[in-house]
Amino acid sequence: DADPDLRPEQRPEDNDRALRPQGLTEFIGQAEARANLKVFIQSAKQRDEAMDHTLFHGPPGLGKTTLAQIIARELGVNFRMTSGPVLAKAGDLAAILTNLEARDVLFIDEIHRLNPVVEEILYPALEDFELDLVIGEGPAARTVRIELQPFTLVGATTRMGLLTTPLRDRFGIPTRLQFYTVDELHEIVSRNARKLGVPADDQGAREIARRARGTPRIAGRLLRRVVDFAVVEGDGTITRALADSSLTRLGVDHLGLDGADRRYLKLIAENYGGGPVGIETLSAALSESRDSLEDVIEPYLLQQGLIQRTPRGRMLAQKAWTHLGLDAPRTADD
Ligand code: ADP
Repeated sequence: DADPDLRPEQRPEDNDRALRPQGLTEFIGQAEARANLKVFIQSAKQRDEAMDHTLFHGPPGLGKTTLAQIIARELGVNFRMTSGPVLAKAGDLAAILTNLEARDVLFIDEIHRLNPVVEEILYPALEDFELDLVIGEGPAARTVRIELQPFTLVGATTRMGLLTTPLRDRFGIPTRLQFYTVDELHEIVSRNARKLGVPADDQGAREIARRARGTPRIAGRLLRRVVDFAVVEGDGTITRALADSSLTRLGVDHLGLDGADRRYLKLIAENYGGGPVGIETLSAALSESRDSLEDVIEPYLLQQGLIQRTPRGRMLAQKAWTHLGLDAPRTADD
């Protein structure tokens, strides 16, 4: 089965730091989002105001955190980072908000997982840069209003659908990140291979790019493993043959699917005749949380046209049967 280290939701950030793009011009792909952000950043700077609140949504590993950091750097302000599940109490958020300096960027990852109590106090903070805190309990309780410095919230979510409407409505700049094209990933891989001191030839970099599930984080992981093989078993350069044999040994197939992806597809093929089958059933049978199926595994399979989502559940597309080397069952109208 696949090396679990290759799943995109895992992030040994320290290793990543050297490869993270630092500025907007270094950031490859997401051309539309990048062009828009460039305007919004410049306008905020010229008006000397906090940039409008921004929401990034899309599958893990596409660059949401990286873009948030780039925004702060381009604006020339501090970057503070937290996440929905970490902010358990209203006081946790209050402590962060009251410490922000004017025009700072606050990044909240997994913002769809905010506690509703915390979300409530976030609304006036976003709209009017004010915090209404309840001090004390019972009849002695009173509300105090705290003025905040204007700031920019950058939220990130893998699941736009789980955001409450009032929260979603408070983001002036909602931005959907897309899977990267092979050409974009090719450029990222070539650049990162140079930074790691192990050059990749054109075909070698392309092979890694083709098998990276449209995701820069996965491209980075795959590149690091191929570098290991190049150093230990190759001549220190990444060729197509070396990339191919390394990735095959890691269980990453020609479409970039790993063991978990193939287990998902095979389950629907072999146990459910190709579907439709409900997400809860798949989750139980695979012992994977529904969230990780919906956030991590399915988006790429859908994008590749390997599965379809229907009202009655997930179904395999013909391409998946071909990929698995299986015959699709005959349907009633065959
Ligand atoms: P997310 O927050 O969406 O899960 P990250 O911003 O943490 O994703 O990015 C994951 C990894 O991919 C990081 O190591 C980052 O440096 C790299 N990365 C993301 N987008 C790009 C890009 N456009 N160009 C180069 N590297 C990228």
